[in-house]
Amino acid sequence: MHVDYLIIGQGISGTWLSYYLQKEGISFLVIDDNAPHSSSRIAAGIINPVTGRRHVTVWMADEILPFAATAYKEIGFELDIAAISQKTIIDFFPSPQMRESFLQRVDENSPYVHSYPEQNHFNHFLNYDFGCGEIRPVYIAHLDTLLPAWQKQLRQKQLLLEEKFNIDALRMEARGISYHDITARKIIFCDGSSSAQWPFFNLLPFAPNKGEMLLVDIPDLPPHNIYKKGMMVVPLTTPGLFWVGSNYAWEFDHMDPTKEFRLRTEQLLREWLKIPFTVIEHLAGIRPATLERRPFIGIHPTKPAIGILNGMGTKGCSLAPFFAHQFVGHLLHGKTLNPEADVNRFRKILSRNIS
Ligand SMILES: Cc1cc2nc3c(=O)[nH]c(=O)nc-3n(C[C@H](O)[C@H](O)[C@H](O)COP(=O)(O)OP(=O)(O)OC[C@H]3O[C@@H](n4cnc5c(N)ncnc54)[C@H](O)[C@@H]3O)c2cc1C
Repeated sequence: MHVDYLIIGQGISGTWLSYYLQKEGISFLVIDDNAPHSSSRIAAGIINPVTGRRHVTVWMADEILPFAATAYKEIGFELDIAAISQKTIIDFFPSPQMRESFLQRVDENSPYVHSYPEQNHFNHFLNYDFGCGEIRPVYIAHLDTLLPAWQKQLRQKQLLLEEKFNIDALRMEARGISYHDITARKIIFCDGSSSAQWPFFNLLPFAPNKGEMLLVDIPDLPPHNIYKKGMMVVPLTTPGLFWVGSNYAWEFDHMDPTKEFRLRTEQLLREWLKIPFTVIEHLAGIRPATLERRPFIGIHPTKPAIGILNGMGTKGCSLAPFFAHQFVGHLLHGKTLNPEADVNRFRKILSRNIS
């Protein structure tokens, strides 16, 4: 079998890369091992325009957020699913200082940070002492719907191999690569934190980050907003179900969920919610984060048949559609990649890796 592109991974990066290649009528095959706890499969899906304790506008928000909103609507229309919904984050201030800091951002006319008109609105189901504000527009990408729907379409079109990719079977050929009985012009790695182990990319400054979440049934909590107080409580498409998390661990000994996270999160929920809740599931995943918090996109500087779309860190839902689209424009039409995301910024170190 010959294809133009062999894509490794169908998380959110591989999904968007294959989507834009398909739109251009380019042949491809995706290999994915369906890892149940991959970053994309346990993410909340939040597309948030601000970050950190000071609610700073995220990198390229004005460009990336509208792009993502349109892209998810478009893929949802094609697959006949709701792939995205618009929400508001209600940010409950954990201290008077955080309240001051938030209101300062409002005074500075941040386009995404707003004061909330009715401070007592959430009193009957939440405990909070220092008021609340609004962050909007915010989106939720419904990855629990989108990833299986895209997987189903790839399966039906026989564009998906559901197995573990084995690097030992990869061969460099004069006009591309071969992998068992598949030949391709290029192979693109969209395999999340796995990429950090491959010889072509193991010198990239990956900084894998572990995050955990609880799936919680909170039947009496209105699903219209995302609620934030130290952690996020995010409504899922199943009525009554909420995603609760997360933590950010730069150092970890194993990939499993931890007792500490579960106990701490349950305790926070008990203190915050005035209504009953039941924990249904507890999962952990590894975010493909990078030291300088920018993605890795492009073709290897010395191996023209090998590329990467990765390093999405904590923001894969917003970054992946934009950069998959940009990457396809680069591959097919020679368009320029954003220099802050282009993997060629590591040309020197990557060239050293391959003799
Ligand atoms: C707890 C948690 C919460 C998060 N919440 C958010 C959020 O709200 N918003 C947001 O934008 N981001 C969030 N993230 C980050 C987000 O999940 C990542 O940025 C994004 O999912 C990365 O997607 P990816 O496709 O690049 O990699 P991955 O999701 O890791 O996908 C890689 C894919 O490759 C496959 N694969 C790997 N190795 C192989 C192999 N050898 N052979 C075959 N297949 C392979 C895996 O099965 C997987 O399908 C969160 C992450 C965590 C852990």
